[in-house]
Parts: sequence; C-alpha cells; structure tokens
Amino acid sequence: KTVVVSGINGYIASVTGLEALRKGYTLVGTCRSRAKAEPLLKGAYAEFADAGRVRIVEVVDMTKEGAFDEAVKGAHAIIHTASPIDFTLKTPSQVISPAIAGTVGILHSALRHAGPQLSALAVTSSVAAIASPKPDGSSYTFTEEDWNNYAEKQVEEAGGVDIPPNILYGASKTAAERAIWAFREKEKASTLCRSVSPRALNPTVVYGPPIISHSDPASLNETIKPIYAIFSGTITDGELPAKIGTGAYVDVRDVAAAHVWAIENPAASDGQRYIVAAGLGPPQAIADLIREVYPERGPSIPLGNPGEGYVKGEYGWFPAEAGGIALSAKKLEEAMGIKWIKFDKCILDTVKCLEKYL
Ligand code: NDP
Repeated sequence: KTVVVSGINGYIASVTGLEALRKGYTLVGTCRSRAKAEPLLKGAYAEFADAGRVRIVEVVDMTKEGAFDEAVKGAHAIIHTASPIDFTLKTPSQVISPAIAGTVGILHSALRHAGPQLSALAVTSSVAAIASPKPDGSSYTFTEEDWNNYAEKQVEEAGGVDIPPNILYGASKTAAERAIWAFREKEKASTLCRSVSPRALNPTVVYGPPIISHSDPASLNETIKPIYAIFSGTITDGELPAKIGTGAYVDVRDVAAAHVWAIENPAASDGQRYIVAAGLGPPQAIADLIREVYPERGPSIPLGNPGEGYVKGEYGWFPAEAGGIALSAKKLEEAMGIKWIKFDKCILDTVKCLEKYL
C-alpha cells in the first residue's frame, strides 16, 4: 500500500515516513525541492529507497490549485503535515494563508485524483488549534471538544501587524483545521469524500530525536531549538521560560505512530480529532535533566529555578494544576492503547543527536 506524506523533509513528517516504511508501506514524500529530501534518501530511508519503496515528488508551491494532484494518484492513505512552523515569519500571508491553502489543496486533490482505493487522510493539526490562555487564570483541562478561538481573534484585532509568532501560528493551525471540517461538511454527500475521510492529530510540543541530520543547529525545527539552546547554554537563566504553551510534551516517535495508527484505523478515527500529548515536560525540567546527566556542562546550562513547576517522575496523562491549564490525551490513549515514551528518554535521545553541534 502507498502512503503520501507531505513535507517529508520536516521533523515530524520524516519520522512518520520512517514509521510507515517500517510498517510495510511504499512512501511518496512531497517536498518543496528534491534536494531537501536527499539526506533522508541517503540516510534513514536508504534501505527502503534502495528497495524502490520511496518516491519523492516535488511540490514547489502547495498553495497553487492542483499542487498535490500528481502526488496523491493511487494513494491508499495521505498524511498532510506540511505547514509553516517558523517563528521568524511575521505576517498572516506567510503563515495563515499557506496553512489553509495547503490543507484545502490536498483535500481537493485527494477527492478528485487519489482514486477509490484511498481510505484515510490524516492532517497534522496541533494543540494550538485547541488550547488558549484562560483570561481569568483558572484551571482547565483541554479536550478535543475545545477550540482555540483566541488566536484568530487576536490576529483580527491586530489588523494583521505585530502579531506574536505563537498567536500567528495558533491562528494558522486553527484556521487550517476548521477548513478540514468545513470541507468534510460540504462534501459529505459525495461518495468520494467517504474515501477521503479526514481526521486530525493535535500534538502538543514535540521533542525527540530528529532523523534528518542538519549541518547547522540553526536549521533544527522550532521545537528542538529550545532544547539545543538549553544544552548549549546559548540562553541565560532569565530566558528559561517556565513553560512553552501548556508545558506538555510528546515524543516525535509517538506522534509518528499516532499518524500511522490513524490511517490504519479509518473506522475509528474518521472525522475525529485527537490530542497527542504524553505529559508534563516544561523547559525547567529539560534544563534540570540535562544538568544531571551532563554534569560537565553544568555551568553552561541555565539554572532557572530547579524543580519548579513539575513533579519529577510524574509523566503521563495529567490533570490541571491549580491555576494552570492542562491537556487530556485520554481519547487517543484509549483508542490506540499507546504507552507514551517517557520524558527522560525523549529528552536524552534528543540531546544525544545534538551533541555533534557543540
Ligand atoms: P518542520 O519545520 O520540521 O517541517 C515543516 C514542513 O512543512 C517542512 O517540510 C516545510 O518545508 C513544510 N512547509 C512549511 N511551510 C511551507 C509552505 N509555505 N509551503 C510548503 N511547505 C511548507 O516542522 P514540524 O515537523 O515540527 O511540523 C510539521 C507539522 O506538525 C506542522 O503542520 C506543524 O504545525 C505540526 N505540529 C508541530 C508541532 C511541533 O511541536 N513541532 C506540534 C504540533 C503540530 P520546507 O522545509 O521547504 O520549509
């Protein structure tokens, strides 16, 4: 069977592609330029590429109508991950527009060109489409019932200028996911749509070992960068944020497994959204753990307030702390039976891949 994964050179997509290959799929990976996929073809995918099970299709501009038509032909499943996650981008047209256009584009290509063998289309949405700050600072545990109505409103009120990157990103993920469900609603009468059968995965902050080896740490994806900044000591004590978003984490290998589970269980996951979150893993816990395991690097690693904001060993589904916000990943845990990769393993496996940059 063939699975199409968009943005195959991306952090999550590349690991997801590997998971699919290991499960026996033939992989069609889309990429803005073929050169960006070369490190995978020569590296983590080499044995599968040599066996003729990997094809790269260039999709230079995913916002163009029909951009994915060629790539999706004959696919049994599609996983759409390509979307801007770059906190240096400043405007809605750089972030929100491509996120929506890419998602709508691949849905339409799937509907018109994939063929009747297509059984599932999974989109990487985000917890950013679910969680938002609680204005009154009250405790709350977010579930799949919730929507981030805050970010889009902020973008609108700002008139599109000077928008904090996390707000712009949150608005992009919310709008792109809304577009999936609008598409599903509009096309539900179509028999073809039943085979497109979209579902969304909503991961929290993703850590874990990347499989694309970048020569420069500046090319690491946005969520690994803070781990490198802590490990390399390029941020100071004061810059160590207590939390990123909800302070939760999930390992990229679990995110990949969740995507493949979602395409393999069309009946269970059709039309559903799933929070993908392992537990609490705030930056302070990352700094404390790295300092413990790399004592020789101790003086460089930002100290912050050791032990603050988390309970060591308490990783897994977690309830709202007093005055805090939390996530429930119970829906996916129960449906998939996943046992999450623990925080220590996730962080230390990541750091191992970053040692070469020091
Ligand atoms: P990466 O930056 O590693 O990968 C992003 C991928 O999307 C790359 O292939 C990139 O291509 C592609 N892309 C970005 N912008 C565009 C665009 N305008 N047109 C075409 N392709 C584009 O990020 P991640 O792997 O971390 O993220 C992948 C997905 O997962 C995204 O949808 C993101 O929102 C979502 N996600 C990520 C989380 C995380 O913690 N990392 C958490 C929750 C969701 P190129 O290299 O050419 O720029």
